[in-house]
Amino acid sequence: MNKESQTMPKSQKTRNLSFHEYVKDVESSMRPSLGFSAKHKKSFPLWRQDVRKKVTELFGDMPTRKVAPRVKVIEQRSVGSYIRRKIVFDVESNFSIPAYLLIPKGLKKNRSAPAILALHGHGRGKRDICRIDTDPRVLQQFIRPLRYDYAHRFANDGYVVLAPDARGFGEISDLTCTEMYTTMTLLGKTVVGIRVWDAMRAVDVLVSQPEVDPKRLGCTGLSWGGTHTMYTTLTDKRIKTACVSGYFSDIKDVLIDYPQCPCQYLPGLRKFVDFPDIMGAIAPRPLLIQNGDIDALYCVEIVQEEFKKVAEIYKAARASDKVALDLFYGAHEYNYETAVEWFRRWL
Ligand SMILES: [Zn+2]
Repeated sequence: MNKESQTMPKSQKTRNLSFHEYVKDVESSMRPSLGFSAKHKKSFPLWRQDVRKKVTELFGDMPTRKVAPRVKVIEQRSVGSYIRRKIVFDVESNFSIPAYLLIPKGLKKNRSAPAILALHGHGRGKRDICRIDTDPRVLQQFIRPLRYDYAHRFANDGYVVLAPDARGFGEISDLTCTEMYTTMTLLGKTVVGIRVWDAMRAVDVLVSQPEVDPKRLGCTGLSWGGTHTMYTTLTDKRIKTACVSGYFSDIKDVLIDYPQCPCQYLPGLRKFVDFPDIMGAIAPRPLLIQNGDIDALYCVEIVQEEFKKVAEIYKAARASDKVALDLFYGAHEYNYETAVEWFRRWL
């Protein structure tokens, strides 16, 4: 025993100067108070209601009323098998969202077509998932590595697709994610909350299209688009099925071991739930979770372990056949083939 430890209180024998280790230590000592457990199996609907209520509270202050979307078509183009409209619509009295609306040619205006709300990840916003650019260099740099043009592909496969910009991206990126996070937090709001509000207003616009069957609505996205899909699907019950791509593990793996962009953090979230709980609270609506097995952002073993928890929750909801993990050979990218198969099956 050295001289110093003889004179120090027991609790101070080992000093830690790593703040990251400190954060991990705090996290490991916390059990989420609404985490799903065996005791919730018989009261699944009540548990789900509690999770939804808590997550919605953590969104912070949301707009108190809906405004008329006042959809305006900015331009319209024929793109192969579909018509692409650039539109803008209001989400608050003082804010509007630009989007692309893709409508397959030949659809009847009889409210029968399936529709997809396609949400983009970090990057250049809606333009890349809609494959606006045709320059091979742009395709090679921004789209092919992520197999990112899912909005375009769903439209080619007969779905009416709405792809809005999320605040902080594309045409509405005058503040960065970090600037948005700090200002929103200061004002009692969160970036996640306002983006979910905007996505729900996008659903309003999508289901009002004369071609769309409002009962055949899906939601999907990669990376932040996966996060956006998870929270929006949890909140908006009009979404019948979802595919969350490149955003599943536990909070420690995704946000604490590898700290990421602040825009996706909800203050206090880990005190109450972890990601498998949020995904599970989507039950019994069909949910596909995709992760590339060489995606450097997530640990495959943890993804598989945490998915068991989601499956357990779906079992409690008597919906075991409505949840699946698509662990495919790939990096941080979208696996379109299994996603479209999922939507064909459930929409
Ligand atoms: Zn961000």
